[in-house]
Amino acid sequence: MRRDCNVETIEQFLTDESNDFYAEGVAEIVYPECEDDVAEILAAATAAGTPVTVSGGGTGLAGGRCATHGGIVLAMDHMREPESFDAERVSIEHLGIECSVALDRAGRLARCPAAITLEALDGLLAPELLFPASPTEMTAMLGGAVACNASGARSFTWGKVNEWVEGLRVVLPDGDRLALRRGEVMADGRDFAVTTESGRELEFSAPSYDMPEVKNAAGLCAADGMDLVDLFVGCEGILGVVTEVLARVTDRPEFASDISFFDTDDGALVQVDALRRARDEGLPVISLEYFDHNSLRFMQDQPHVDPGHRSAVFCELDVSDPDALDGLEAVFEESQPAADWFADTERDMREQRALRHSLPEGVNTYLRQRGSHKLCTDFATPAETFPEMLAAYRAAGDRFEAMADRDGMFWVLFAHIGDYHLHMDFFIDTDEEFEAALVEYAGLAELAVSLGGTVTAEHGVGKKRMPVNGARVPYLELMYGREGLAEIATVKRALDPALILNLGNMVPRELL
Ligand SMILES: Cc1cc2nc3c(=O)[nH]c(=O)nc-3n(C[C@H](O)[C@H](O)[C@H](O)COP(=O)(O)OP(=O)(O)OC[C@H]3O[C@@H](n4cnc5c(N)ncnc54)[C@H](O)[C@@H]3O)c2cc1C
Repeated sequence: MRRDCNVETIEQFLTDESNDFYAEGVAEIVYPECEDDVAEILAAATAAGTPVTVSGGGTGLAGGRCATHGGIVLAMDHMREPESFDAERVSIEHLGIECSVALDRAGRLARCPAAITLEALDGLLAPELLFPASPTEMTAMLGGAVACNASGARSFTWGKVNEWVEGLRVVLPDGDRLALRRGEVMADGRDFAVTTESGRELEFSAPSYDMPEVKNAAGLCAADGMDLVDLFVGCEGILGVVTEVLARVTDRPEFASDISFFDTDDGALVQVDALRRARDEGLPVISLEYFDHNSLRFMQDQPHVDPGHRSAVFCELDVSDPDALDGLEAVFEESQPAADWFADTERDMREQRALRHSLPEGVNTYLRQRGSHKLCTDFATPAETFPEMLAAYRAAGDRFEAMADRDGMFWVLFAHIGDYHLHMDFFIDTDEEFEAALVEYAGLAELAVSLGGTVTAEHGVGKKRMPVNGARVPYLELMYGREGLAEIATVKRALDPALILNLGNMVPRELL
């Protein structure tokens, strides 16, 4: 296994796509090549009390892979094969790197290494099969997506990553290992008892808090009678290192997609409602995404986008059965888009995906050029309270724009409206704007929670904090209170008594 303490190498691991959190005092980057390497590194780190932070693809948006407590970074990049090939070996070369999975086509299962990117996995499964639950950012690693319990546009139909995880191999912070298969270790109430591969008995309890009934990635998963697999999925690496994922895959449907543009701010909302109703009656809508007028300004160079458009809806459809599209005409009639672009060829769909992707890319380029940065929300609320949340986003945007007395762009509102989950990015030029955006952000977060929602639907908690009454409190406190944080810390201490792994994620170090 390679170890690298070159300053330039370390610099590549200092932050993630949030560009908000930075590692400090990292001594070296270690690249395990197999599970034994991971176990050796963690056992040594536990014995020496050295902090270890796991790095996947680095696409996270909450600083999860940023080693803010120093020590070593465990870079998963070289973990490209599962531990065993108990089924057909299928390999793909992606970005010059070969990755393999053990694919059981009949059983619809793929035993995958942690480092396989979602893009590589998709290429490897196509054209027959699909791993359907994935974030938009396909350079994320499967191990990272599992650690964050990621989701994205398609979670509208296929849910979050945990619903597609059949089993995991996990190395615990002291180097011991767990082989978990869904259905084999279930909680009694919230209490778990499990035997490690070395024969040790571990007992611990999932937190007692209730999780909101919305798309949610806040905190350790907790429910009566839950599966131990679900405690590790979404644990943001605080309980162990995922080395292998037994992923459930499905038949790849035939996709088509559509973008409708509207001349009014609420035109898109009429179509979203019409699509939901049509879906209830059988229209196979896979994903449902929204773009506000500011988002469309970042897409102006793309085909079909017109400066007069004020809102847009992007949806993907399953056209395996062409008759299933019968309901679509009525959706258009009701919502009366100003322009519509239906894509049923691979070329058009690629162009539409490029249009979709031009938003985050356009935003990032804009911010880079101005030397600005952004604050990005990730809240979801229940269906019945979503209109109130939407009105609050718009009011917060208007207030922020009024206070930031300058030219340029101020905010965008977009994304996963199917799951009542939008992202609002505030664009920040000055310290004063940052403080103002933070106040708006905190107000929106508190509102989301009071409306029965979550402070993070998909990005996870990472190292985020929240301003409350002039102090920066741990992000999760807003949802689960200090007791909830203390319960997460208790699980952490049961599995990581030396407190070495992914310090600062979910629960700040000083509360462990
Ligand atoms: C443009 C853009 C769009 C995005 N859209 C979405 C979206 O729609 N939905 C969504 O959910 N996310 C989205 N994200 C966020 C991101 O892609 C996901 O959070 C992703 O799951 C992170 O995976 P990664 O491999 O990059 O992990 P990293 O960023 O490297 O790490 C993320 C966390 O996982 C931990 N980790 C990584 N690998 C392991 C492992 N093997 N074992 C234990 N812990 C591990 C790290 O320590 C860290 O805490 C987006 C990001 C970008 C840049």
